[in-house]
Amino acid sequence: MFRVGKVEIEPMVSSRFRLDGGSMFGFIPRALWERKAPPDEKNRIRLNVNSLFVKVGDERILVEPGMGLKYDDAARDIYALREMDARGALLGIGSDPGEISLVIATHLHFDHAGGSTFWGDGGNATPSFPGAKFMVQAREWEEALNPHPLAKGSYIPDDYFPLEKAGLLKLVDGDEEVKEGVFVQLTGGHTAGHEIVRIRSEGEELIYLGDLVPTSSHLRLNWLMAWDMFPQETYTQKKKYLEEACGKGSTVIFSHDPDLFGGRLRAVPGGYELVGETVIRLRPR
Ligand SMILES: [Zn+2]
Repeated sequence: MFRVGKVEIEPMVSSRFRLDGGSMFGFIPRALWERKAPPDEKNRIRLNVNSLFVKVGDERILVEPGMGLKYDDAARDIYALREMDARGALLGIGSDPGEISLVIATHLHFDHAGGSTFWGDGGNATPSFPGAKFMVQAREWEEALNPHPLAKGSYIPDDYFPLEKAGLLKLVDGDEEVKEGVFVQLTGGHTAGHEIVRIRSEGEELIYLGDLVPTSSHLRLNWLMAWDMFPQETYTQKKKYLEEACGKGSTVIFSHDPDLFGGRLRAVPGGYELVGETVIRLRPR
């Protein structure tokens, strides 16, 4: 647990899986990315979903519910998915998933929103955090209702319709302070409705970058994922927020880095790198 001003934050790993390395680095040649992210025999690289548990006053917030466990054997094999989810991660840090009052997802792709539901009684997708509102951008919700053919495979209705049905859905439009010191900000880029989460208190700041900058390797500005629906927008937004975070000494958190949560930045040619002594490392596995 560490603090950003008055806000207590515990980063935690909600999912561990693998995805094709090429898809994670778009047009960057394998000869370059494989040094940073060594692929397995199926060309897959290790990835996490790194979530945040945030305590603001009485409020308990989960940022990014992760992939969850609603997958059949074939999908588990394709993604080399480990048996873990955000509820387990919360229990692991000594927190009660039933106390979560707000869940924020940067977007509704299954690797980010899947953990918001689980297979409940009768094999129905059931909200994982029944005491929590689920917050996402209205623009993202529209996309999930009727995904573009290129993005359809990334949206799984069982991840989010049960939340609407249970009356838990809370849509935001653009930028908003959702709790004291906790802000969501619409960025677009990865998806039209992608948002980031900023936590600001007493002059300190942490930015959860979602899929604008999924891993520390993506701190190079032109290293973009093939999954980005609007890569030019990703580039623009990523540049803007990294520049700002670097200038202000904000801590950034990566959604998918398999080895670390984030840290502070310093500018290098072509992008940014983490300042060694500020790196927030994962707990040993
Ligand atoms: Zn993702």
